[in-house]
Amino acid sequence: MSSAPHTVLLAAPRSFCAGVERAVEIVEHALAGRGRPVYVRKQIVHNAHVVAGLETRGAVFVDELDEVPRGATVVFSAHGVSPAVRAEAARRGLDVIDATCPLVTKVHTEARRFATRGDTVLLIGHGGHEEVEGTLGEAPEQTLLVEDVAQAWAVTVPDPERVSYLTQTTLAVDETAEILGVLRSRFPFLKGPASDDICYATTNRQRSLSAVAADADLVLVIGSANSSNSVRLVEIARRGGTPAHLIDDASGIRPEWLEGVRTVGLTAGASAPPRLVEEVVAALGPVTVLERETATETIRFTLPPAVRPS
Ligand code: SF4
Repeated sequence: MSSAPHTVLLAAPRSFCAGVERAVEIVEHALAGRGRPVYVRKQIVHNAHVVAGLETRGAVFVDELDEVPRGATVVFSAHGVSPAVRAEAARRGLDVIDATCPLVTKVHTEARRFATRGDTVLLIGHGGHEEVEGTLGEAPEQTLLVEDVAQAWAVTVPDPERVSYLTQTTLAVDETAEILGVLRSRFPFLKGPASDDICYATTNRQRSLSAVAADADLVLVIGSANSSNSVRLVEIARRGGTPAHLIDDASGIRPEWLEGVRTVGLTAGASAPPRLVEEVVAALGPVTVLERETATETIRFTLPPAVRPS
């Protein structure tokens, strides 16, 4: 390596959000209270380290409920599930513990409300993402997915006066505003949620990332490739003109990325454990670490009654 970075600009807030902390705690409490194995439908949160850590403690991750023995305990992931999945769990007599983030539940509630009043619901999000599949499942006949600006221009609805929108919680704020601008111009009667669906944690991590990326030669985002909010952070840095890479941990850093780099902007997605940040800083060598805090987070979510300590 011809040069090593001198400075790490650490974005704050970064790393675990309240919804991820709650989901991980739910699995831990379930393991402690019910014993192993505890089944978890899908990855509890989209992070390889979190999943591997819980696996070693007795969590068994499955793709679908037919892999869970009748009567066993199953945890629904932070991303939420459709009503069809809940119905199947009931049919199979499963002991369900729901780790859906309350901010995802909020979007599901809105989807039901908008559909009940007869609106077509335009769901802005990424197809195939578990959160989007769950939300779509609330009113599949009345919900249309809008993934980008092109689809916002192309989408057609039965009645342009009865149309609402919702968004995935982990989208890029700037891109979503652009998509929404198109939808508003096409559907002047478009109604939306009372407060943003893009959650506080996603918004805060994007703002803090932008604050460090502007002064960095390179941005590193700690997170897994299937983590929507982490991938958005990389895209935002790149759109701002700073080279950026997503890494699962310190082992993902490639020496060639650091050629000529003096200042590294560092953040972590909402599903990435805080210890990985320390490990990456250590791997970058002797550096001056400057933290830039753009918001303070105090939000905590209560555990569901099924695992709440008495
Ligand atoms: S990123 Fe937002 S919606 Fe997702 S778990 Fe965290 S707080 Fe909840």
